[in-house]
Amino acid sequence: MNGDMKKKLVIAGAISPFIFIIFFIVIIFVPVGLVLGIIDFDGGSSSNSYAYEGYSSTNDNTGYYWPIGSSEITTVNGKEFATGSPSATTITAWFAGNDDVHSGAHGAIDIAAVVGQENVIATKSGTVLYPDVNDNVSIGTCTNFPYGANCKSYGNYVMIDHGDGIISLYGHLYADSITVKKGDYVMQGQVIAKSGSSGNSTGGHLHFEIRINGNKSDPLEYVSVDKPRPSNMKDNLITEELQ
Ligand SMILES: [Zn+2]
Repeated sequence: MNGDMKKKLVIAGAISPFIFIIFFIVIIFVPVGLVLGIIDFDGGSSSNSYAYEGYSSTNDNTGYYWPIGSSEITTVNGKEFATGSPSATTITAWFAGNDDVHSGAHGAIDIAAVVGQENVIATKSGTVLYPDVNDNVSIGTCTNFPYGANCKSYGNYVMIDHGDGIISLYGHLYADSITVKKGDYVMQGQVIAKSGSSGNSTGGHLHFEIRINGNKSDPLEYVSVDKPRPSNMKDNLITEELQ
């Protein structure tokens, strides 16, 4: 065996454990990891409209609140919060659309709600994008249609920017019931309007959208009828606000 050959063998001997480790990771660890859910290739992938860093599992009801509040109101520092059980939880139209009312995609959920009665609340804290203080939100005369929304379809509506590219939209609100305007900071659970049937609507309901980076995403990936909000919301709210 000449010197060159020896060198090659020594190098091969030094490398082989690493090759074995790489082999072990690729063949054994990845499949087992996928099966056990330790590794999730879908997480954060843009190909899956639901996978997003800001995604809040509906098992965690602190991330996003059900957008219909309660008739019970708690006023803290001049802001009204719906702190009881939601007064309306019946979903009448789903995200996919192609139902009795929507001939194509819907891009939202509809929640049956009595005209002028249900308290609509901010699903999460954020800054109001619409309406502007200068907008006339009466149907037929509103002139400002930002973010691909218009008042002919949505009627009186509110859009809230929650940061990280997440926007919520509340449509068909009752005339002159909107209590917030562009630039206002609203807190999660704060009452922003009453439910209505304005715009392109066949009856009293709330049209609720979640938009992620401009794409409509299924709100039921964010809010839940079963877990509308924490049961101790009132205690948390008062503690937070009084700090
Ligand atoms: Zn709708």
